[in-house]
Amino acid sequence: MPEWEAVIGLEIHVQLKTRTKMFCRCENVWGEEPNTRTCPVCLAHPGTLPVPNRRAIEWTVKLGHALGCEIAGRALFHRKNYFYPDLPKGYQISQYDEPLCRGGRLGDVRIHRVHLEEDAAKLVHTGTSGRIHGADTSIVDFNRGGTPLVEVVTEPDVRSAEQAGEWLRLLRATLRQLGVSDVNMEEGSLRCDANVSIRPVGTRELGTKTELKNMNSFRFLEKGIRAEIARQEGLLRAGEEVEQETLHFDPRTESISTLRSKEEAHDYRYFPEPDLVPIAITDEMLTRARAALPELPAARAARFERDLGLTADSAKLLAWRAELGDYFEAALSTNGVEPQPLANWVNELVARIEVEDPAESKVQPGALATLVGLVSEKKVTQNAAKQVLDRLVAEGGDPAAIVESEGLGAIGGGDELEPLVQAALDANPEIAERLRGGDMKPIGVIVGHVMRETRGRADGGEVTRLVRQKLGL
Ligand SMILES: [Zn+2]
Repeated sequence: MPEWEAVIGLEIHVQLKTRTKMFCRCENVWGEEPNTRTCPVCLAHPGTLPVPNRRAIEWTVKLGHALGCEIAGRALFHRKNYFYPDLPKGYQISQYDEPLCRGGRLGDVRIHRVHLEEDAAKLVHTGTSGRIHGADTSIVDFNRGGTPLVEVVTEPDVRSAEQAGEWLRLLRATLRQLGVSDVNMEEGSLRCDANVSIRPVGTRELGTKTELKNMNSFRFLEKGIRAEIARQEGLLRAGEEVEQETLHFDPRTESISTLRSKEEAHDYRYFPEPDLVPIAITDEMLTRARAALPELPAARAARFERDLGLTADSAKLLAWRAELGDYFEAALSTNGVEPQPLANWVNELVARIEVEDPAESKVQPGALATLVGLVSEKKVTQNAAKQVLDRLVAEGGDPAAIVESEGLGAIGGGDELEPLVQAALDANPEIAERLRGGDMKPIGVIVGHVMRETRGRADGGEVTRLVRQKLGL
């Protein structure tokens, strides 16, 4: 039996947070009363005409730049024809063979294309509570209908569920930094489909792929892909075939079910939207989009690694959440503190606060930098510094003053520590005997005793050294 390798491509839908919808002037907002943000255009009344949202086109070009795509000089909108209750026109205005952006790369995954389209309305399945004539019902909220939607399609460069999750996080951080979307998976402003196939390791030919639809959290995306890889392996090992179909992953039961057999492009009878002229992207638009690009998460992480010597994990943690990177850089600029310990302490801080952005906590960036400085000068031990940080999170203030008032300063040289080590040995005579006999295992008991007595203010390494010295080891 061969070893299998997964081949995964991702299709990501991103709702743009423009002020108005894609082809009409309705407000583009989330969470309003159903069917209050509609007009004859997005409700597809006869005789209405679409007008493209300039901002949505500019933002798609900006995203294309960020992903290193080739931006088309001319792009077309097409009609994608299908019937569904969430689509009043009977077609979606999308892009087909002349998308705005092609090619590109983000991290280790190549981009196939990026195009712009309008979103469908939202179907709410009311189940038994909304029964009519004894049947379950669904209701339609047209507020979402016609909002601008960007679709990013990758090449099949992803090889595992974990890589898919990691890459989607990078894309989300990039979109957030560009300021073009709320990128909230739970609310549906970022949605991900995965095309999954498997093949024997070492072969080049692609297996039959299935499409997992609309996974609305990172955890479900990874779980769903893992489950689908396992399902396909099971089929192929049993000598059966994988059917090309569209699948739904139910995160509650972790089961996979068929939504429909996969449709082909020709099923949609794409044709150019006759109500819209081609989009012409001018050099001026390209220049403006390029100039508006901020430093993106991947570049920022690379800079943190290269210029500040952070570990890859620390760099990613700070750069992929812009607010953490900003806080870190603000703290770094206040004094000459070492970057890596500071990054570790930003992590400690994040674990202690309720708010997403540490700048909204009571701990000023300068205060955290001061605390890190006290630790590296050995004026405060790691343990005591964590107590100081707890106080800072609760009340704010100056770490040096807290160290002073709480008596948390490190107990310095041998003079202060020596009697405490002696007392710990006296209090544990059997252990002292075992240590003298060369069994070093219980040394932690003595060190722990001193740590308790000093409330973590002693340096563990120094205490260990003194214990050995006292016992003549
Ligand atoms: Zn409208």
